[in-house]
Formats: sequence, C-alpha cells, structure tokens
Amino acid sequence: MAQKVDILGVPVDAVTMTEAVTRIEGFIKEGQPKLVATANAEMLMRATHDKELKNILCSADMVTPDGAGTVWAAHHLGHEMPERVAGYDMAQELMRLAPSRGYRLYFFGSAPGVAEKAKEKAEKLYPGIEIVGTRNGFFTEEDEPAIVSKIQAVHPDILLAALGVPKQEKWLQKYKDVLGVPVCIGVGGTFDVMAGVMKRAPRWMQRAKLEWLFRGMMQPKRVGRLLALPKFVFKVHASRH
Ligand code: UDP
Repeated sequence: MAQKVDILGVPVDAVTMTEAVTRIEGFIKEGQPKLVATANAEMLMRATHDKELKNILCSADMVTPDGAGTVWAAHHLGHEMPERVAGYDMAQELMRLAPSRGYRLYFFGSAPGVAEKAKEKAEKLYPGIEIVGTRNGFFTEEDEPAIVSKIQAVHPDILLAALGVPKQEKWLQKYKDVLGVPVCIGVGGTFDVMAGVMKRAPRWMQRAKLEWLFRGMMQPKRVGRLLALPKFVFKVHASRH
C-alpha cells in the first residue's frame, strides 16, 4: 500500500490517480462509510489552526495530494509523492467508470442550480451515468435532517460534496455514518467547473503548476487566500528541521 507522508501533521497518501481510484473502488465493494479528502496547500495550512479539520484529515480513509504545493511539500520533506491527485480530476475518473461499474452518484453542494447543471454535463460526458440526486449547498442546520433523509433514500455509492473547505469535510464527517454512503468525497469547486460557472486553469498553466495563480486571478476574493501559499512553503520548510 502507498506510504503516508506527514505534511504539517496531516498524513497524506502518496498515491497516483490510478491507485486512488482503485482504493475508492475497494471502498465501494466493502460498503462501509469512508471519507476521502483532497488536500491542497490551503487545506493543510488551515488544518494547522483548525483542530477539528486536522482531526478529520488524520482519521480520513484517504487524503490525496491535491495540488502542486502538496506534492512539492512531500518532496521537500524527502518523500516520494508520485503525482497530483486533484478532486476535480478524481471525480471525473470515477464518473468515467461509473456507467460500466454501475456506481450511483449524488451531487451535493454549490449554488442553487449548479449541481443540476453539473449533472446534465456528466450525463453528456459519461452516457449511462446514474446521478441519483442533487442538492445545493446552501442550507441551515434545520434543513440538515431533510438533506440526510433525501440522500439515504436513494442509496448512492459515491457522495460528492462541494461545500468548500472545511465545511464539506466537517459535514461529511458528521453525517457519513448515518448516511451509510460507501464513499464521501469533498470536491470543492468541481460542480462550478462542470457547470461552466468557473473555469479551470488552461492545461499549460496546470502543467506549469500554476493552477493556484489562475484561481487567484479569476476570483479576486481569493487573492487574500493566496497568501496561504508562501506561509505554507515557510511552514513546511521549518518543519523539516
Ligand atoms: N459552497 C456551498 N455552500 C456554502 C459555501 C460554499 O455549497 O455554504 C460551494 C460554493 O458555491 C462552491 C464550492 O462550495 O461551489 C466551493 O467553494 P470555494 O471555491 O470557495 O471552496 P474551496 O473548496 O476552494 O475552499
């Protein structure tokens, strides 16, 4: 089994995309609720001061290296980390396999209408895919029991939750056992990208490991969040000694 690499106190699985997907398929076969998180530099930084998030990541069933920053950190700490396993890409891989494997998915999160649009897109891209329900990600605590019942009623194999970090991880941790869904994954902006509400960085920027810069430019409200990156670099470097 792939090694776990400790990055700022969070064990990140040194998996390739293929290995990550194979493990998720194993989780579906097992049938017990499992939590998968995709850790980018921002999430790992947040976990340094958000104890609840850190505990969730430490007990998650798999934490993939989402982003160039996480892969860099592992290498800087002297460990192998084969490649970036981003939430968006992993979600697409699972959707690609879903029709032939019979996996049923539920799309939970993003602004009203976005998950439905993402569902339509998935049905075009992956003919035969079964997306058994959608629900937007804006709700109050009183709405939560109804959301849980709706998901339970349709028995998905994979629940993709796009509520942003750390809301999606905390929500999934709280409800995964009662939901009984074998694979719960926090997927951030995945539905926004699928629905065309948000653009993914062009491939050359992804290859140049500049996706973080693109996201910062496209969403000015994120510019402040970009500061997490140099802080992350310093913290990882300091943790080496
Ligand atoms: N979102 C949501 N409910 C909330 C807050 C955010 O469904 O209460 C959605 C938001 O619409 C977006 C997704 O969460 O589709 C990811 O948000 P963001 O890009 O801010 O989060 P990240 O995962 O990058 O931290």
